Amino acid sequence: MIKRNTGFSHLTAGYLFPEIAKRRREYASSHPNAKIISLGIGNTTEPLTPHITKAMADYAKALGTKDGYSGYGDEQGNTALREKIARVFYSGKISVDEVFISDGAKCDIARIQTLFGRDVNVAVQDPAYPVYVDGSVVYGAAGANNGSGYEGICYMSCLPENSFFPDLSKIQKNSLIYFCSPNNPTGAVATREQLKALVDFANKNGCIIIFDAAYFCFIRDENLPKSIFEIEGAKTCAIEVNSFSKPAGFTGVRLGWSVVPSDLKYEDGTPVKNDWNRVMTTLFNGASNIAQAGGLAALDDEGLTEMKSLVDYYLENARIMKATLTTPRFKAAGVEVYFDGNSPYLWVRFPNQKSWDVFDKILNECQIVTTPGSGFGPAGESFIRFSSFGHRSDVEEACKRLENLNL
Ligand SMILES: *Cc1c(COP(=O)(O)O)cnc(C)c1O
Repeated sequence: MIKRNTGFSHLTAGYLFPEIAKRRREYASSHPNAKIISLGIGNTTEPLTPHITKAMADYAKALGTKDGYSGYGDEQGNTALREKIARVFYSGKISVDEVFISDGAKCDIARIQTLFGRDVNVAVQDPAYPVYVDGSVVYGAAGANNGSGYEGICYMSCLPENSFFPDLSKIQKNSLIYFCSPNNPTGAVATREQLKALVDFANKNGCIIIFDAAYFCFIRDENLPKSIFEIEGAKTCAIEVNSFSKPAGFTGVRLGWSVVPSDLKYEDGTPVKNDWNRVMTTLFNGASNIAQAGGLAALDDEGLTEMKSLVDYYLENARIMKATLTTPRFKAAGVEVYFDGNSPYLWVRFPNQKSWDVFDKILNECQIVTTPGSGFGPAGESFIRFSSFGHRSDVEEACKRLENLNL
């Protein structure tokens, strides 16, 4: 018989979100009248916006006509969309052939791992979005979990105590460094100086940064960088993955992109972009043409305005939650709220308590589902992630209930 990929046997059971779903189900079945509100999973809740929706609807209709029909497109994506992304999001600092359109950032993060094989060293922010580590385990770049993390992964603690920016000296030479800013789950945004230090470190030590900018559209402080390519030197050490999921509510539509600069090389001098082009043409077959029509519309002036107000809605939700969680009662209990207005998440510390205990308490007393910070890595212990993805009325109701949480 065929052997199982050892990567799967190394993955520890109880992936975060299934465990949350299980606890929610159990609570609901013993409290059938409870109106549970979810501030948990990072999924968008508000409808697609008019200009973008119309473009997709028109495109879909045209596909049903002789003249409007098209089959497979270029695997790297529609050239007009690649051009528009380079121009609008990167002010022309990136060329068209360095932009690759995809079905989303998570999918790109998984595929990127095929470029580096199983011998690569991996470093991640701790806490981090789970796919960086879990993907590395599946591909064999990390080993078994020894209780304090997977072997072969360098976990870089990001805590309030270090302003959520890791100690880079822990990273081995020639490592793949996953870096997410604004970060999921902490919401922390790296400053220009911090990213410059990261880029300089990577260039000096033969590392490649996989920069996840999926939440760039939440950055409202103009001094904060939205792309790694705003930093000098990034083109020789970084890949950026990005997505329309959060800016345009495309979590279900599915559309993302990656930027692999021509100057990024392997040890032997081969451009990484050549292999990435190979991956996208051989293992991927192009993003949906309907979704790409939506992406093109999203980059029109009307589309950009719509995306901004969509994101503003979630940012306002976050501000409403912050106001509740920072009242004197919460402060007196030592609760610390980290949110500076540039991300969809509030990262909240309940000192000396376990994340899962706080999760259960909020579920039991307030019928609100949150996300326990420990599920994102060891440094997430004692934290809870509150997501601003929700309807305003639910957020307001959740805040009313939280006012009565026993602290
Ligand atoms: C939501 C999210 C993404 C987006 O993934 P898609 O596959 O494009 O929907 C990527 N990275 C992080 C950290 C996210 O939270």
